[in-house]
Amino acid sequence: MPVKYQRLRNEMVTKQIIARGISDPRVISAMRTVPRHLFVSEAMMDQAYGDFPLPIGEQQTISQPYIVAEMTQALQLNPDDRVLEIGTGSGYQAAVLAQIAYRVYTVERIHSLYTRTRKLFDQLRYHNIVTRYSDGTTGWKEHSPYDAIIVTAGAPEIPAVLVNQLAMGGRLVIPVGDRHTQDLIKLVRDEQGVHQSNLGGCRFVKLIGEHGWRER
Ligand code: SAH
Repeated sequence: MPVKYQRLRNEMVTKQIIARGISDPRVISAMRTVPRHLFVSEAMMDQAYGDFPLPIGEQQTISQPYIVAEMTQALQLNPDDRVLEIGTGSGYQAAVLAQIAYRVYTVERIHSLYTRTRKLFDQLRYHNIVTRYSDGTTGWKEHSPYDAIIVTAGAPEIPAVLVNQLAMGGRLVIPVGDRHTQDLIKLVRDEQGVHQSNLGGCRFVKLIGEHGWRER
């Protein structure tokens, strides 16, 4: 792998991730490892380590590096955790999760993104990522319960069905708000019920589906 990208990646981790307070060593190590430039088109590789989201086609985006780190840290992942991701997109967030967790199940509703990213996971040998083409707002019951669930598109509200697919002690991170801006909400499920906290403002593409927004 070109030394240039290695250097850009380390710089990204130092200036965008550690300098802004991300401290989980597993998250930092994963962000140092996953080759983000391979998750964007060739024309955009040189911008892949910039402090911003980038288009990935189909009017969707790969999230800004910091937001990927923030959401991953909020999931408090352990090496034996099983994680569900809604919104595979470029596959970058799933790859970061797969670097830390035991297995990642990821769902994408746009077929072209699903097939392209599935191929990329095979090429890069992410053998612990399981992909599915469907509406992820209903979760993926078959492999539940999950230790962590991450939704990488903005939802009008928290789908109850996702909370129900969390294990005891499980964590859910989801952007909730209107079509333009959202709050990043973290929810923890335990015997007493669910505990919610607000991690701050964010901006995601729409979560479209049965328990999300209607198309257009
Ligand atoms: N995690 C991705 C972010 C991609 S943007 C990455 O790292 O690149 C959000 C993605 O969520 C888009 O690809 C969009 O098509 C997808 N999405 C939106 N609604 C969805 C739904 N109901 N089920 C599955 N995927 C959905």
